[in-house]
Amino acid sequence: MKEKSNKNVLGRFAPSPTGPLHLGSLVTALASFLDVKSENGKLWLRIEDSDSQRSKPNFIGLIKQQLVDHGIAWDVWPNLAHERAGVIYQSERQHIYSHFLHYLSTLDRTFLCKCTRKSLSRTNHFIEYLESGEKRYPQICRDRKSVCLSKEQTLRFKSTNRDDFVIRRLTTGDFSYAFTVVIDDYLQGVTRVVRGDDLKFTIERNRQVQAILGFPFPTILHVPVVRDSNGRKLSKTDEHSKLRGGKFIKKQITQSWTHLRKNMPSSWIEKVTPTYENYFF
Ligand SMILES: [Zn+2]
Repeated sequence: MKEKSNKNVLGRFAPSPTGPLHLGSLVTALASFLDVKSENGKLWLRIEDSDSQRSKPNFIGLIKQQLVDHGIAWDVWPNLAHERAGVIYQSERQHIYSHFLHYLSTLDRTFLCKCTRKSLSRTNHFIEYLESGEKRYPQICRDRKSVCLSKEQTLRFKSTNRDDFVIRRLTTGDFSYAFTVVIDDYLQGVTRVVRGDDLKFTIERNRQVQAILGFPFPTILHVPVVRDSNGRKLSKTDEHSKLRGGKFIKKQITQSWTHLRKNMPSSWIEKVTPTYENYFF
């Protein structure tokens, strides 16, 4: 049965330009695209280049071309000048993130942290591990009375579940993914997020920030990540896993669709199949 038209279904594909897209990125992009298009929704393209050390501007054009080559057309985000072609770049939105960070600070939900990677590796505090394998920050600076601005390294979120994650690195000025993604999803009215299941553990961080700022929680759909023959997650920095052009395009689309068919719930496959056929066959 055809889904009812719903103009409020808004999704996004948000790659980081740390390398060309690979098959795993294509799977996520295709899943996002089909998910919103099956309900006549819109898909924004957001370039998550807020990490100034790892982002490489030369990959942005390539990523856009790879999406177009594989039939994934994004909708034009209307609140930007035409020359940006309706795409949001996080590197140009620092003032927006600063604004929300200021607000969080006024609510006493941030604190300065002087710990470095090195000092944390030598600390006597008990270190627990998060589900992601990351070390849980042992809350050393959370209740510090005095700060020394020249020595502070990061600004952390004061969480209610002891996971005081980094919001901003003061050494570079960069905002963290866990923070920027929440602000942009809110400002772009995103109602559906489709992403790799390797990011499952970030939900709680997103929701902590969303709850404090009074943002709605988007519906999140996780797609099992694509692994290579050794069972390793594909990496953007690995030359061998990048998407190829020309005669490989059709094969790559088919591989992505096969991955979704094998791994996604049948109710979801049934929902997106008519759309898939409209676009690709
Ligand atoms: Zn600290």
